[in-house]
Amino acid sequence: MELRRTKIVATLGPASSEREVLERMLDAGVDVVRLNFSHGQAADHIARAELVRELARARRRSVGVLCDLQGPKIRIGKFADGKVLLRPGDNFILDADCPLGDQSRVGLDYKTLPQEVVTGTVLLLDDGRIVLTVDSVEGSAVYCTVKVGGLLSNNKGINRLGGGLAAEALTEKDREDIKTAAALSADYIAISFPRSGADVELARQLVQEAGGHAHIVAKIERAEAIPALEEIVDAADVIMVARGDLGVEVGDAVVPGLQKRMIRLARAKNKLVITATQMMESMILNPIPTRAEVSDVANAVLDGTDAVMLSAETAAGQFPVEAVAAMHRVCKEAEKEYYDDSMRRLGRETFDEIDEAIAMATSYSARHFQVKAIAALTQSGKSVIWLSRASTHVPIYALSPEQNTRRKLTLCRGVYPYRMDIATHDIDRILFDAEEELVSRGVVTNGDYILLTFGQPIGKAGSTNTMKLVQVGEHRQS
Ligand code: PGA
Ligand code: MN
Repeated sequence: MELRRTKIVATLGPASSEREVLERMLDAGVDVVRLNFSHGQAADHIARAELVRELARARRRSVGVLCDLQGPKIRIGKFADGKVLLRPGDNFILDADCPLGDQSRVGLDYKTLPQEVVTGTVLLLDDGRIVLTVDSVEGSAVYCTVKVGGLLSNNKGINRLGGGLAAEALTEKDREDIKTAAALSADYIAISFPRSGADVELARQLVQEAGGHAHIVAKIERAEAIPALEEIVDAADVIMVARGDLGVEVGDAVVPGLQKRMIRLARAKNKLVITATQMMESMILNPIPTRAEVSDVANAVLDGTDAVMLSAETAAGQFPVEAVAAMHRVCKEAEKEYYDDSMRRLGRETFDEIDEAIAMATSYSARHFQVKAIAALTQSGKSVIWLSRASTHVPIYALSPEQNTRRKLTLCRGVYPYRMDIATHDIDRILFDAEEELVSRGVVTNGDYILLTFGQPIGKAGSTNTMKLVQVGEHRQS
């Protein structure tokens, strides 16, 4: 397959659990699978992760596994008939004590909602499709008027316009799910609705206590996260522009600007960023995307996102493989127009770390010399993220003996992680093996130039301190 720099995250669900569908999705270009802990049982997630890794191994590829925790999502209860139709002007009651809903009321799985709203509060249900205003609160019951109606079905989410609902970012269920995620050796764990850097740090601590090694993804999806953006990005490894809930809390029109700001901030801080939700929404039912969806995916690429994400399109849609193929096609085309001005910006900057300086020197050389590939020998992957931030048109091959490092680089734009075992201290031998790895994969051939980065002494994490420019085959002639 032709190289695409932007990575594709696909959510797994009923539409993508069969081996054959998953195989076709991987072959269409999925780099990371997302296991959504809002649905399904631990055993389902474990089985899916194992199957994905088996299929990836058969393809000599690394595919990342992202476990997405449900978080304190506030939901209504269930209806006797599964759903009701609400019309504008209807009275409707959200009642913490109602066991089974009907046309007049529905229960709440979030029992404290009545204490957190007042007359005039605007509540948005089902990602904002249904709008209620609060008329009064009496005991366990919140009396509302329907402003925007529609079909309301079991367990739909509730947001408050302006944000502010729910205290704890990590629920009891999340704490249990972190253990499951650690047990299945998740590469990424996403926390939902974090409000602060401290929420992210708590998640990291829980992951470590559970024996996990996952990178932490902070989903930016509530109003309070916006003023705290810097500290959340600092505390996380990856952020997700979680446009579904975010759009409901801050208003849909605010999201595109925030998306650009978040992507810029993440890149500047050497962090990764995923752009998510409704990217190819119409492909749940149709085999091709709309023009607007194509533009949306392309614009995320032009904003500089590391990855674009599919949610219901691949989890529950009718065309999971086509949705991945459409993203692949759109990303590749948009990348041709991508212009990254980091080098101009860097002209005024100083670097704090050795590996950062080497990465920038390498990117500079890659832009100004006929280089076919960058081969980054890496233990921790840190230098590789720096290389990816100072984007060039040259592919970055991350060669690492560490499986965890390879899998964690699956989200990183322009980076292709490959396995390379290191069995010697002879640096010339190791560099030759790196060259051979790229030759054997058909990436480079005799006469091509490669930029190699590595750390001397070899094998120590976070010690990239050397760049070397070689011509493929020159060792053999000498
Ligand atoms: P969700 O998160 O799909 O888990 O709700 C993403 C979003 O809110 O956009
Ligand atoms: Mn969400």
